[in-house]
Order: sequence, then structure tokens, then C-alpha cells
Amino acid sequence: MKRVSILGATGSIGQNTLDLVRRAPEGAFEVVALTGGRNVAQLAADAREARAQVAVTAHEECLPALRAALDGSGVEAAAGQGALAEAAARPADWVMSAIVGAAGLAPGLAALEQGATLALANKESMVCAGPLVIETARRHGGTVLPVDSEHSAIFQGLVGEDREAVERIVITASGGAFRDWPLERLAQATLAEASTHPNWAMGQRITIDSASMFNKALEVIETREFFGLDPERIEVLVHPESLVHALVGFADGALMAHVGPPDMRHAIGYALNWPERRPLPVERLDLARIGQLTFRAPDDRRYPALRLAREVMAQGGLSGAAFNAAKEVALDGFIAGRIGFLQMAEVVEETLTRLWSEPGRIDAPFTLDNVLSLDAFARGAAGQVITERAA
Ligand code: NAD
Ligand code: MG
Repeated sequence: MKRVSILGATGSIGQNTLDLVRRAPEGAFEVVALTGGRNVAQLAADAREARAQVAVTAHEECLPALRAALDGSGVEAAAGQGALAEAAARPADWVMSAIVGAAGLAPGLAALEQGATLALANKESMVCAGPLVIETARRHGGTVLPVDSEHSAIFQGLVGEDREAVERIVITASGGAFRDWPLERLAQATLAEASTHPNWAMGQRITIDSASMFNKALEVIETREFFGLDPERIEVLVHPESLVHALVGFADGALMAHVGPPDMRHAIGYALNWPERRPLPVERLDLARIGQLTFRAPDDRRYPALRLAREVMAQGGLSGAAFNAAKEVALDGFIAGRIGFLQMAEVVEETLTRLWSEPGRIDAPFTLDNVLSLDAFARGAAGQVITERAA
């Protein structure tokens, strides 16, 4: 019996994780904690069905509704940041980190501190604080497994291999909603247009990040943090079909590709069953029917986010936390209609320029406090940039 908790259970990744738990043979899993946001009806229904110990909403004001929805179920109800961390710290063997944004960092660390295996969908944790995540796992005997499809693919490609023989890693990108749009049209892209993905069904934020390529920019940094590779050995390749998720290139010229359907239940299930491989309810690809797979180099003019990620890695230190925070604020600005699609990258770049002009800001040691304070600084700066532009 594996004890599992799911942080961000009501989201896209969380629901896919619950789907796999639900399909597992009776008695394979025991659900400890489920967390969510304002969608307390979903959270309560899932917690009842899974017979969870506790359900936590991130928002204090949602507690009465959650309590009411759980009445008579025997499931505890709790709310707020402290309760999230407490839920993540409840003894469990496996914890899914599927909160979106930097908000996922602290609960994920709490799970590692109890020595759990952390299935990390929350790429922001690695971008903001990769060294802290790895060190926390090492110190407390926890394990971090990648769930992002590209990183799961790389991880699988490295099983049994000599890490020293890895020459390069290639992660693929669908190119997002606007990959075939003329450049001039991008400035006018609307929220609705940016919120539909050609291949994957995901949460709204990551879908927009896919259209702007900020998602891939975060993933390049995530690759560096997970696999310890020099940035120049990490490549991005546009692959519109989203069937090859990543490739690992070795010193002898071999390129090992991971091919599979665009269904997150593969990567989630791989982490859930690791180190075993068990059957998963995903489509089996018929390559003869698919016929061809295509690849092309990303266009730097179309995707300034990729260039910014390279600068973030070159500057190093805590720059990743600022990059992510500025991106989150810019994304909020786009969702709220305060800035246009192309201005997201401009806001992030301007925020980073301000940050890097202040000596020593990024050089503090990787502690949670330092990461969160740089996150707050970057949010403030990015908010100011947006206000100046809107004025
Ligand atoms: P989502 O928006 O569908 O769900 C997010 C979850 O986090 C929800 O349960 C929500 O209630 C909760 N949440 C949101 N803000 C919160 C906060 N401030 N505090 C606590 N909880 C909060 O997102 P998603 O698409 O499932 O993505 C989750 C994470 O997984 C992200 O980091 C994303 O980049 C990553 N990821 C997602 C996919 C995908 O296919 N959806 C693929 C790869 C990686
Ligand atoms: Mg991904």
C-alpha cells in the first residue's frame, strides 16, 4: 500500500493523477491529503471518493464551504498556506506537486523534508530554487522525480546509462497556439486564442505559456537543474506533432528519443509506479498511420522567452526565481487585459534588467527565505513595469 498525497488535486495534473489512482487495483494506494484552490466542490467530492485523511483549500475564506461539503464524510477540512504545508508534511510515500506557480515551492519542500518521493510537475520549483530542492531531498532522504513530459522522457532515457557520456539533451516544443501565425499578427493575439493548445489539454496558465514559449524557457532551466547539464548542451526543437518528447544525445553519436502520445498520464504514471513500469491507460501510437514526424529550429524573433532563459542561466544565482516571478506577473497582466501578448516578454526582460543592475541581488544563498524575497522583489518590479507601460 503506497500512501499518496496530491498538491493541486483539482487542476489538470491533479485530476489526471486521481484518474490513475482510481483505476489502480483496490488497496494499491491510500490517499492522505488532497489540496486545491477555490473549486471546493470538486475538492470535497474527490476527497470523499478517495477517503482522504484531509482536504485543504489554499484560501481561508473557502473553509466554511469546504467544511460544509465534507460534512459527515470523516475527511478533515483545512485552509491556508500553513495548512498546505502541514498537509504536504503528513507522512506519505509519494507526493504529487501539481500546484501552479512559485506557490508550489514551499509545500513541495515540506514533502521532501519528510523523506517522501516528490513527483514534480511544478516546474517552477526547479526554476526558482533547483539547488534548494535537490539539497532538501538529499538531506532528508527524499527523492525528486520529474513529471513534466520532456523531463520524464529524459529521465527514462538515462536509466542504465553513464551520465558522463551524455553529450546533449534536446527537448521538443509544439510551438504552441501561434506557431504558424505571421509575426505581425502576434501583437494582437487575444486571451481566448492563447488559451487553446494544438495538442495538449492543460491548465490555462501553462497553455498560454506554451503559446509564448515561456513554458519551454522554464523547461530549459528545469532541464539544467534536474540533470546538471551545461546550458549550451540543452537544445530546443520545434516538433508540431508533440509525439517525441525529448532526446538524449550520447558521446558515441546515438540519440535516444522518447516517443509517446500527448497524454500526461504517461509521465504521471511513470513517476507513480517508479521504479517499476506498469500498464497505463494511454493510447498506443500507430506510427504507420501517423506517417511522419517533423522538426524545425525555433525562431528567436518569434520566441524571445528562449533567449531570456539563456540569459537567466548565464547570470545564475537566484535569477531563476526572478524570471519566474516576473513571468507570472506578466501572465496575470495579459490575462487581465492590461498588456498585449508580446509585451509579456518585454515586461520580463525589463524586470530582469532592473534586477541585474542592482549589484549582489542575485547572489544570496539558496534558502527558501531568500528565494521568496527575490520572488517578491521581482513581482513588485514587474508590476511597476506594467503600470508604467499602461500609463
Ligand atoms: P491547473 O491550473 O490546472 O491546476 C493548478 C492547481 O493548483 C489547482 O489545484 C489549483 O487549485 C492549485 N493552485 C493554484 N494556485 C494556487 C496557490 N496559490 N496556492 C495553492 N494552490 C494553488 O494547472 P496544471 O495545468 O495542472 O499545472 C500544474 C503544474 O504542473 C504547473 O506547474 C504546470 O507548469 C505543470 N505541468 C502541467 C502540465 C499539464 O499538462 N497540465 C504538463 C507539465 C507540467
Ligand atoms: Mg512540458
